[in-house]
Amino acid sequence: MNEQNVTRQTFDEVMVPLFAPASFVPERGQGSRVWDTQGRDYVDFAGGIAVTALGHAHPELLKVLNEQGAKLWHIGNGYTNEPVLRLAKRLEALTFADRAFFANSGAEANEAAFKLARRVAFERYGADKYEIVSFAQSFHGRTFFTVSVGGQPKYSEGFGPVPAGIVHLPYNDIDAARQAIGPKTCAVVVEPIQGEGGVIPADPAFLRALREACDQHGALLIFDEVQTGVGRTGHFYAYQDTGVTPDILTSAKSLGNGFPIGAMLTTNELAAHFKVGVHGTTYGGNPLASAIALKVVELISDPQLLAGVRSRSALLQEELARLHQRFGIFREVRGKGLLIGVELTDAFKGRAKDFVTAAGKHGLIMLMAGPDVLRFAPSLIIPLDDLREGLARLAKAIDEVVGATAESPAR
Ligand SMILES: *Cc1c(COP(=O)(O)O)cnc(C)c1O
Repeated sequence: MNEQNVTRQTFDEVMVPLFAPASFVPERGQGSRVWDTQGRDYVDFAGGIAVTALGHAHPELLKVLNEQGAKLWHIGNGYTNEPVLRLAKRLEALTFADRAFFANSGAEANEAAFKLARRVAFERYGADKYEIVSFAQSFHGRTFFTVSVGGQPKYSEGFGPVPAGIVHLPYNDIDAARQAIGPKTCAVVVEPIQGEGGVIPADPAFLRALREACDQHGALLIFDEVQTGVGRTGHFYAYQDTGVTPDILTSAKSLGNGFPIGAMLTTNELAAHFKVGVHGTTYGGNPLASAIALKVVELISDPQLLAGVRSRSALLQEELARLHQRFGIFREVRGKGLLIGVELTDAFKGRAKDFVTAAGKHGLIMLMAGPDVLRFAPSLIIPLDDLREGLARLAKAIDEVVGATAESPAR
């Protein structure tokens, strides 16, 4: 086999078939533009699934990558390093947290959070307080523990007995939460906006009720901000605009702008329950990932950048309202900042994928959030011209799908 000559077809021959990638193969990116192996250009509205918050090939991140890359990539957790300490200090200055643990992904950050919550409850209250309360449609990662805590059975079924002590409740249901959270609850984990579950924002009153119930029963409140964090909602972390402060916060995705890193942030009191050797990682907190994340955090925590997220969000939502006037296929536009979901009307139920595929043909990289929702998670600094151009391409894609549907009413 010629190893040089690979195409999209090669994927079907050599990869474990867990994904169904688009027909084109991206090759390079610059800002909010991506070019495929045929030289075609795309506007990027997906940001690598809410990850490349500063776009592709950001010059300041390239500089850090090159400088730290020439110095030290990895040293192992028998030694600390300056970039990781600076990153922890910076994140703690920006949040409620006093302590940080670094991993390589969102799932690992959540795994650490759930283990910490169980350990805290065990040490404070004994062996019977282990229940983790989570919500339907939630997503917390794909390790066995995190996928079991997540509220999407299609991801967790068929892998044998799930870990015990996980309770799933309807999202945004205050009464159900008040009833279920009790003496056995060790933690409640919630996304301030459910990302994978369809871009569904939590009601502020729901989050307040969770906080109260947790305080009443000695349970920890965990905010999974893997998708909502690091500027995505126009605030550095989404919790900062809810009036509710969690005990543990997890972060990943935008934190590394594509370089793998995850973080679990918490308080002094809780962190003290993780002693040397109780949990760990080989790569977590390595100097290369930490140096890059530090620069990402420096750039995104700038109030001007965050204001830019909010103004881009307003523009995007205005333009989506116009698209709705023209095509009438949006049931609801929701979300915050540059995490926006568009639920399709019943006539297009289950067909988000068709729009994503059509978008690709018209030079637009789109994302879905379940079968009925188009998701927008572009770079937080997407140039306004790219935003408008992407929406023009989306209009063409919608026109194509709607037109094809009108021509074949039997479908
Ligand atoms: C993506 C995501 C995760 C999982 O992150 P990975 O880096 O893929 O492990 C967890 N929680 C939420 C809310 C996410 O959006």
